[in-house]
Amino acid sequence: MMNKEEIAPHVREIARVLEGKIDEQEIEKDLDNYLNVYKMSLEASKRHIVRKYGGDPNALTKGERKMLSQLGLSEQTVDLLVRVMSSTTREVTVGGNPKTILSGILADENGSTVKFTVWDVSKADLKAGENYLIRYAYTKEWSGQPEVHLGTRAVVELRPQDEVKVPDNVTVPQIAGGYSAPIVAKVADLKENMNNVTLTGRVLSLKPKEVETPSGKKTMFTGVIADETGKVEFTAWHDFGLREDEVITVTNAYVKGWKSIPRLSFGEKGQVTRPKVQFPTGDQLSQAVKKGIDELERIGWGSDIIITGTVVDIKKGTGLIFRCPECNRVVQKGVCQVHGKVQQVPDLRIKVVVDDGSAAITAVMKRDVTERLTGITLKTALDEARETMDPEGVGQRFEEMLLAKPIELRGNVISDDYGLSINVTDARILVPDVRTEAEALLGKIEVI
Ligand SMILES: [Zn+2]
Repeated sequence: MMNKEEIAPHVREIARVLEGKIDEQEIEKDLDNYLNVYKMSLEASKRHIVRKYGGDPNALTKGERKMLSQLGLSEQTVDLLVRVMSSTTREVTVGGNPKTILSGILADENGSTVKFTVWDVSKADLKAGENYLIRYAYTKEWSGQPEVHLGTRAVVELRPQDEVKVPDNVTVPQIAGGYSAPIVAKVADLKENMNNVTLTGRVLSLKPKEVETPSGKKTMFTGVIADETGKVEFTAWHDFGLREDEVITVTNAYVKGWKSIPRLSFGEKGQVTRPKVQFPTGDQLSQAVKKGIDELERIGWGSDIIITGTVVDIKKGTGLIFRCPECNRVVQKGVCQVHGKVQQVPDLRIKVVVDDGSAAITAVMKRDVTERLTGITLKTALDEARETMDPEGVGQRFEEMLLAKPIELRGNVISDDYGLSINVTDARILVPDVRTEAEALLGKIEVI
């Protein structure tokens, strides 16, 4: 059963062959009748209608049936009898609008394979494992090979399983990664140096900023945009009329990074649209996102993340430390490696390794977080150190408090030459939930 939309290109083709002698509505009625009432094949119906009105059926475009190995790099119209070996949908942007396309691999009886792309999924929802007669396809070159495209003219017909028997030893090429279309990304997908990115998110905060440019003063905007996978800072180099709390889709954005933390940027070439979509609220998106450390290792960064794990190691430089007032470096016995003997400034810090069972991360806590977590202030630490004449004592107390304890950390995650680390903005030692652990244990026993 072909619907009106599928019939349309064929109606236009018949009208062209009949040189406008018969109007398209008449042709459409005829074609619909032959196809859907008399169940004639598409080709026979078209030829019949052309003949009926005194036209030349040979003037109709004939898609030539080819085997995949016979395909040229720029076929205008070709018919293929094939099996779909793989098929996945992809999100791309075409002319600034998001669009779903389908791509995968076709194989034929000879065991040849070729990549395909369907540009109108409503017309040809090719499913892996099914056989199809594809008509009016065309080809384009992709990495020196022909790629089959199914455009608006394409017609596909599902064929029986025994009609195409693909040899067992056919290897199906992977197509992921070879595609150069615009990237539709979630926040967690963002990586330094990405280009042509489309992202939908809610503007959580927004701040104008005056900057000097060669062409005079200019207002740009910075802020935070979020989706369900996380938050990212952005810079808009152009006034898009952004408002706080609105959901926007930006296209043609690019990603710059600082210490592996991406920043989304969009300028004159970028576009901002306001999609009507269901989206998590600002309150929901402002919450820190909980992630596994292995996942963070894969992603390489994270903005306002919560992780839970066990403190497995206390690093050197934990406790009462002294810094150079010039460069902030930690000094040893009042001597900065750059500035020599200085008037050292006391500080508190914690550096620990936390493991959640999937991977490990270095957690760095500055003075404010350290004081809140341990209840020991810099002043108490200094008093103690003076009393005991032992500046190392505070670090030892931190170790007793933290080592082997379950802990929850919140902060920004970066990765560099030293591996993954989190700049902690908030931390708390977890009281183990005995009941949950017992239940988990019982669960395990049941499984065994
Ligand atoms: Zn210094």
